[in-house]
Parts: sequence; C-alpha cells; structure tokens
Amino acid sequence: MLDSVRVRLTLWYTAVLTLVLIALSTITYFIFWRSTVQRTDVNLAELSEAFLTTLDAEVNDQSGPDSLRLAGQVAITEHRFRDHVFAIFDDAGNIVVSSQEVPPASSTAPFSSPSFQHFFDASSRADRLFGKVKGGRDGYRGFARHFSSLGRTYTIVILQSLHQQQEMLEEVTATFAWVIPIAIVLASAGGYFLARKSLAPVVAMSTQAGRIGAANLHERLAVQNDRDELGHLAQSFNGLLDRLSQSFERQRRFMADASHELRTPVAILRGEAEVALSQQERSLEEYRESLGVLHQEAERLTHIVEDLFTLTRADAGQYPLQPRDFYLDELIAESVHSARTLALAKKICLNLEEASESPIHADESLLRRMILNLLDNAIKYTPEGGSVSVTCRRGGKEYALSITDTGGGIPADLQPRIFERFFRADKARSRTENDGGGAGLGLSISRWIAEAHHGRLELTHSNPAGSTFTAYLPAEPLPSATGS
Ligand code: ADP
Repeated sequence: MLDSVRVRLTLWYTAVLTLVLIALSTITYFIFWRSTVQRTDVNLAELSEAFLTTLDAEVNDQSGPDSLRLAGQVAITEHRFRDHVFAIFDDAGNIVVSSQEVPPASSTAPFSSPSFQHFFDASSRADRLFGKVKGGRDGYRGFARHFSSLGRTYTIVILQSLHQQQEMLEEVTATFAWVIPIAIVLASAGGYFLARKSLAPVVAMSTQAGRIGAANLHERLAVQNDRDELGHLAQSFNGLLDRLSQSFERQRRFMADASHELRTPVAILRGEAEVALSQQERSLEEYRESLGVLHQEAERLTHIVEDLFTLTRADAGQYPLQPRDFYLDELIAESVHSARTLALAKKICLNLEEASESPIHADESLLRRMILNLLDNAIKYTPEGGSVSVTCRRGGKEYALSITDTGGGIPADLQPRIFERFFRADKARSRTENDGGGAGLGLSISRWIAEAHHGRLELTHSNPAGSTFTAYLPAEPLPSATGS
C-alpha cells in the first residue's frame, strides 16, 4: 500500500495537518487560558476597589473597637458573590472578618490550607499580589492588597473560584477533541481525492508509455497542458522517444547499408569461385586470374569489415586512443611517400609543401589512417595527369593539414552529405572502376579521428576544378588519453 504515491502523499498530508491542528489548538487553548486569567485579575482588582470604598464608608458610620469587623461584615454582605470569598486580616495575620462567617458560608474553608498560607506569606512582601490558591473544586485565583484603617494596616484577600473557568476550558478541550479527528478524517479523504486526481495524468502517461515499443516507436504521449509540470514531463518523454527513434532509424539504416555493402563482394566471391569450379579443365592462367579476383574481393571485404568495426567501437566509446609525442610533418611525409605508388599509377603529380617542425601529441596510427584516407580519395577522384598537393601549417594553437586535388569536385548539393556513413557521390563509378573504391566509410572514419583528437575535418572548398579537405588538429598536448 505504501508503494502507492497517492497513499504516501495522503499520509504525509494527514501527518502534517495533524501536527498543524495540534499546534494550533494548543496555542488557542493557551491564549484562551491567559485571557481568562487576565479577566479574572482585572475583575478581582475592581472588586477590591469597590469593597474598600464600601468598607471606608461603613467604618466612618461605626464606632467602638469592633467597628472594622462590623464594617467588614456589611461590605461583605454587599459585595458577596457566589464564587468569591473575602477576608480581612490584621497586621498580625489574624482574620478580622471573612465571608466564611456570613451565612450562607462557602462549603470549604480555604484560609487554613498550606497553599493559602504560602500565598498570604508572599503577599506580605508585595503591595498587591495575584496568585493561585488550592482548595474548593478547582482552586481559586487569589488577590491580596494592603490598606490602612483607623491607624492600623490590614490585608484584604479576595479569592475567586476557578470552577467556572475550568469548566469553560474543559469544554474547549472537549470541542477540540472531537473537531480535530473529524477535520483530519475529512481532510485526508479530500487529500486522497486530490492526490488521485492530480496523479491521474501520470497514470495515464505511464499506461501510454507502457504500450510504446520498438514496433510503434512513432507514437507519442498526449500533452494535456504544455505549460504545467506534467506537460513538461510528457514533452521530455516525447523528446526522448524522438531521439530514440532517430537513433533506431540510424542503426537500421547502418545495418541495411552495411549488409548491402557486404553482399556485393560476397556475391562476387561466390560467383567467381563457382565459375572456377564449374569447369573441369582450366588453364593455370585462368586459375590465377580467378584467384586474383577472389583475393581482391576478400581484401575489399576485410577493409569494409575493419571500417565497420572501427566505427562501431568509436560509437560505443570503446576505441582507446594511444597518444604519444611525434612530429606531424614527418608522419605526413611518410604517408605521402606510401601514396606515391598509387599516384604514379594514375600519372598524378603528388606535391608536398615543405613544413616546419610540427610536434604533436596524438595517436599516430589513427592520424596515419586519416591522412591516407584523404590522400587515397584525392588520388582516386582525380583524373589521370592531375595533381594532388599536401600542406601543413600552424595557425595559433592548431595545425591545418590540407589536401588539395584537381579532381572533378563534389556537387554542391551533395557536399553536406559526404561525411555520412556509406555515402558515395557516385556509387556506380566507385564500384565499376574496380580501383578499391570504398564503401563510403572513409570520410566518416576520418572525421571521427579528427574529432577524437579534439580537432575537426572539413571540406574547405570543392568545385569542378578540384577539392580541398582540411584537418585541424590541436598543436598542444592532448589532455585526455581515451577516445569518445
Ligand atoms: P569512399 O570509400 O567511397 O571514397 P569516402 O567516405 O571516403 O568513401 O567518401 C565519400 C564520398 O565523397 C566519395 O564516394 C566521393 O563521392 C566523395 N569524395 C571524397 N573525397 C573526394 C575527393 N577528393 N574528390 C571528389 N569526391 C570526393
């Protein structure tokens, strides 16, 4: 049950509400109690004032040694209320007169209790004193003040029963005791209803999301209100689905292209082998020719599989770079030297511009692969008698390695796509020329190599007079040692 967010929300809400209600009722009770006490004190002070006025008047009317006692009795009779007890004490602490003596007397005699004694002792140290006195049903609020009459000092004490106040406070407590639980039950039911209502779109979304799989990845969650939090959640989820389906689509295309590229050399291998085996007698020359074709296609196949493997590992971030310090100008010179045979075969003039010393911290074999790919393309797509030139210059913190050819260039509309996997501007030509025309992976791999070194590879320009590819590589040592 606690696994449900609705239930958990309701429980939390109820717990917080209970605490708030308890705190509020405690504060209310305390304020109520304080104002009751204050009212009682004001009442006691006023009563004492009125009592002393009456007492004064009566003392003047009386004569003899008992005049204060007699005047006190008259004043008590005049001011006596059911909940009040009056007493006048002389300066020796003896009762001169008390309402207890006047019938009907209060049922209990509080003046003899130790609590009263304590209060009375304290009153001798203050001119006026309020305090609590035990006794009666619920105790008394006591008030004591001194006054002088006929040359002597007396203390008047008025006790007000707290029974009525206590009853009121109990009534308040009893009201809280049933109002709070009812409020909590009602509020929890409301809270559960609200939680249910506000989480309903989430439940609907999760049901919808549960139905979306590889087969219907195009479906999207319904967005009720794109400005609220749930709308944002649905939009984020839809965004995730968009990215997933694009990635699925890329994977699917990659697989389809890869199998397509692999099918051709495999078909040639099979066909050539079948032809060679179908004839009983073949000359040595014919066998050599067949084996040559088989070898060429096997090499092509190996090349494609290796490229695919490189790209897959690069995608998964599992291609570890092995950087070391070396000179880029030397690597370029070596690569140009390796490509010389290819260029000679096509009577292409291969020029290398003298470069200054170019120290670099990079993965040498990957950079060699990139340079050879670019040189290979430049030679492959340049007609016989053309030229290919290579330059490497330092500009700020990076090297710009450019390979320019005098080939036919790449049509402007195809230029943005040449770095895509398996893209070939002229598929038919690459295939039939039988010159090792790649599967359209060379530039993808080269771009990845440049980026893995925190650089970039760009087609700087291309027109019918030729093309220039430029790789920008950081001249400073690389901070990280792994490719991504
Ligand atoms: P491929 O293995 O087909 O050469 P790449 O990824 O290396 O694959 O190149 C992709 C496509 O870009 C090529 O098929 C070609 O059409 C075009 N291309 C690459 N380099 C050049 C170049 N130097 N001149 C003209 N076209 C080029």
